Amino acid sequence: MELPKRVVHHIEALLTGAKYLVAKPRMTVMYPEEAQILPEGYRGMPKFNREKCRSCSLCARICPANAIKMYTVEVEGEKKKKYPGINYNRCIFCGFCVDICPAGALEFTDIHDYASYSLEDLVFKPDRFAEGPPPRPFKPKLVKPMLDEEVGLKYVPG
Ligand code: SF4
Ligand code: SF4
Repeated sequence: MELPKRVVHHIEALLTGAKYLVAKPRMTVMYPEEAQILPEGYRGMPKFNREKCRSCSLCARICPANAIKMYTVEVEGEKKKKYPGINYNRCIFCGFCVDICPAGALEFTDIHDYASYSLEDLVFKPDRFAEGPPPRPFKPKLVKPMLDEEVGLKYVPG
């Protein structure tokens, strides 16, 4: 008697799960307690330096995701100025804004996993953009990927 396909698929899934109960070292990271060491030049959430900014708006114009918007800001003892703010919901981490900025006022952080309860909270006006996304509230154990002949990719303490 042939088993219905659904039953066969359930059995296959159970067998796959059972295999990984006894399989050799796991290939995943116990995120967020563990985190991978990021390579140099990693493009995390960009951050803004107000002191360097020339208010040229190039970053807002080049952004393909429309994530950067210029805000008019009152500056003490000076005329009003325009500074960029960012909507991290929209950012695709392409790096165009960092590359085009003629003043080096934008840089990448290594933060890519800032989470929020609301979409509005991910819109950073210039002041908050200058502070950048908050770092993780705890330090994860750092691990790095290695190639293992038996299991393929595995992670070892960094
Ligand atoms: S990294 Fe790319 S998508 Fe993100 S703000 Fe800069 S230009 Fe826009
Ligand atoms: S951050 Fe850079 S590109 Fe953007 S307005 Fe300021 S100087 Fe221009």
